Amino acid sequence: MNELIQTMDRLFPQMVAWRRHLHQHPELSFHEVETAGFIAKEIQQMDIEVRTGVGGYGVLGLLKGGRPGPTVALRADIDALPIQDEKTCEYASKRNGVMHACGHDAHTATLLGVAKACSAHREELNGNLVFLFQPAEEVSPGGAVSMIADGALDGVDAVYGVHLWTPFPVGTAASRPGPMMAAADEFVIDVKGKGGHGGLPHETIDSIVIASHLVVNLQTIVSRTTDPTDACVISVGSFHGGSSFNVIAEKTRITGTVRTFDQKLRSDIKSRIEHIVSHTCAMFGAQYEIDYKWGYPPVVNHAAEAERFFKVGAQVLGKDAIFECPLIMAGEDFSYYLQNRTGCFMFVGAGNQEKNANFSHHHPKFDIDEDAMLNAAHLLIGMALDYMNDTDKC
Ligand code: MN
Repeated sequence: MNELIQTMDRLFPQMVAWRRHLHQHPELSFHEVETAGFIAKEIQQMDIEVRTGVGGYGVLGLLKGGRPGPTVALRADIDALPIQDEKTCEYASKRNGVMHACGHDAHTATLLGVAKACSAHREELNGNLVFLFQPAEEVSPGGAVSMIADGALDGVDAVYGVHLWTPFPVGTAASRPGPMMAAADEFVIDVKGKGGHGGLPHETIDSIVIASHLVVNLQTIVSRTTDPTDACVISVGSFHGGSSFNVIAEKTRITGTVRTFDQKLRSDIKSRIEHIVSHTCAMFGAQYEIDYKWGYPPVVNHAAEAERFFKVGAQVLGKDAIFECPLIMAGEDFSYYLQNRTGCFMFVGAGNQEKNANFSHHHPKFDIDEDAMLNAAHLLIGMALDYMNDTDKC
């Protein structure tokens, strides 16, 4: 273990170089052609079995350990975002309008480093490691579903993943048992009334007035019909209707997002929205259409694996560095792995004002403290080895 960690530490400059190369050459979700090629080439050089084209541009590396034992999968996402990089540093994106603004470049570099360090010590491993380089985390339906459908978890016993996280300071790491990140669903509601003259409302069905009632009525789902101790959000993010001051709008469209942590509440809210829309529209004699798009399910950590995080995290980063994070309303398709296998998702602090790593994720000036990659690598290795060496797994 100690020698493996020393090997890992010596690879840090290479991890930085990998990360900066990827940062300069970002690719959007479902278009990670070069990124996948880059990963496959590096993994091959480590003498690790490679599978490319896994559920799209996914890359899977299989490292067989020298001794028998379980198989642990470690996952990194590899896609970038449609954002113009506004940083001025030497490794800023070279591609107009595309940027690694969520740190997936660093996730990829970290996992490459972990793979290389572990490959140098394969004889000592009590089991196997699977490295999952997953495309398209940022855009639903995401790359996790298709990778799993393509066999990414075949033979895997447990799965771990990290997200570098600038809201938490570098040097720290956090997770929690049970729900951690939200399900993120989307709705589009079209209210169809009857257009007409602004001075003759009695001859029309005013879609703007009806949609306004909808916005207000939707607020009552969280405030009046949901258990106040259950975290959830319904936000209407856009409202479009009409084109002239003296014309009553025939059609108004509202769109919004629903965030929940519980599958039952999640489907209850969908029904509740349909109920409110149908009855409100009926009240005014309007027609409607609802397009409800299921996003990623909530990220739910397995209790025993979160427990392992608190133990291993304290060992590799120090007791004071580890904390239980609050619920996070953002979504992540790591949820699908946890629906299929035992495991845990973890945040690794990457924020540092002195290194301009103090912008939120998806911000045009987003950057990380690269030291966080080494912490993430230590944590991933620690979790994998602890699982492999654990004789009484829960
Ligand atoms: Mn992300």
